[in-house]
Amino acid sequence: MARIIDGKRIAADAREALRLEVEGLRAQGVEPGLAVVIVGEDPASRVYVNMKRKACEAAGIASFHHALPGDVTEAELLRLIGALNGDARVHGILVQLPLPRGIREQRVLEAMDPDKDVDGFHPRNVGLLTIGAPLFPPCTPFGVMELLRVEGIDPAGKHVVVVGRSNIVGKPMALLLLAAHATVTVCHSRTPDLARVVGEADILVAAVGRPRMIVGEWVKQGAVVIDVGTNRLADGSLCGDVDFASVEPRASYITPSPGGVGPMTIAMLLRNTVLSARRRHGL
Ligand code: NDP
Repeated sequence: MARIIDGKRIAADAREALRLEVEGLRAQGVEPGLAVVIVGEDPASRVYVNMKRKACEAAGIASFHHALPGDVTEAELLRLIGALNGDARVHGILVQLPLPRGIREQRVLEAMDPDKDVDGFHPRNVGLLTIGAPLFPPCTPFGVMELLRVEGIDPAGKHVVVVGRSNIVGKPMALLLLAAHATVTVCHSRTPDLARVVGEADILVAAVGRPRMIVGEWVKQGAVVIDVGTNRLADGSLCGDVDFASVEPRASYITPSPGGVGPMTIAMLLRNTVLSARRRHGL
């Protein structure tokens, strides 16, 4: 029987600690602020953005919401980013991805002041992460590191297998784990015999986007299993990339999905915003 890592509880604790920290900052005249930019009508993006806004409110962080129509031009979006870069009330800027076709994501990320890039996707921040000195660790992999820390799981010297190499999850995850002295293998859609590689993991991080793809017989007895996957099934329910029912009996620790990594992402976004406000004010 695995220990279930309760991401909801750990995220709630992190958010409560941040709320108290923000109270202290406000007492010193500093109100952390996060600008969230959403373009178009993607329903999932709208849900995420609303969750972020509510989480800001609960933590005492000012939130500035900018909803732009799906046919907005890249130039208009860049103008907004420029304005937010210059707005002293804004310590963090988040542009909800994906962006509609026709807008170059990289161009938008590069336009952002890297000191306000609380998602950690600006090339300067990617570079800092690569040299092991991240300013703002990308929120989802940062959330995974926090889950491991709270559970007392030290990746140092462990073989960690990350399945997925996206810029927002897989790659930054691998870099954070490397910085934490893990031996890291990164797998992707061209990895032959994925089951064999997964079977070598002391710690497995699944960030694929394929419902219940990783099954129990792939997983080493006693492995720590972190499921980043959040997949919506035809019946509307959510599930992870890990087949919880067959993997849980073999794992030592496992995150459910939903209720594991997901809630941590927002908590880490708030953490990066507060960190950015502190840096700006030298606190
Ligand atoms: P992407 O689609 O950007 O990347 C998926 C990765 O998985 C790619 O590297 C791809 O390989 C790899 N992959 C796809 N199919 C296979 C396969 N059959 N075998 C091995 N590797 C495969 O997804 P994201 O990284 O954005 O997201 C991954 C999952 O995490 C999704 O379920 C997403 O919803 C979830 N997620 C959850 C978050 C949260 O909890 N807060 C935040 C972000 C994402 P290749 O590069 O070769 O194409």
